[in-house]
Amino acid sequence: METRAYRDRRTFLIRFATGEDLLESLEAVCRREGVSCGTVTLIGSVSTAVLGYYHQESCRYETFAVDEPLEIAAGIGNVSARLGAPFCHVHLVLSDARGQARGGHLMPGTIVFAAEAQLRELRGEAPERVPDELTGLNLWHWEADDGSRGGG
Ligand code: ZN
Repeated sequence: METRAYRDRRTFLIRFATGEDLLESLEAVCRREGVSCGTVTLIGSVSTAVLGYYHQESCRYETFAVDEPLEIAAGIGNVSARLGAPFCHVHLVLSDARGQARGGHLMPGTIVFAAEAQLRELRGEAPERVPDELTGLNLWHWEADDGSRGGG
């Protein structure tokens, strides 16, 4: 395990427009504002969703569409850097008219009906997403050793 300490910088409130792609719009805000380190929470509703599930044994994402209006019962994620650009990693729990939930990794193709986010920018070294051999995922890596870790 690695840990880094951060301080709060700016906090943005975002109201997404109807018809926007949720993930693309969130990343567009991060690019425009130069945010490559932060956390995200969001609520609202979507007209259709595309979510991902990562198969740990085959190391690949399976995506599935949920083609119906859904509430965003919970949305949570983070912003880091990948290949020099802001990268948003967001998970959603979506609920239908009966309150039944589906959830997963937010993928492009999830279309906003109405949604609101809080984006908190953090001050400190942005973690960079780099390929991880063990999991097959792009996981956080810090270049600088801030001295907060123990040996090894
Ligand atoms: Zn994920």
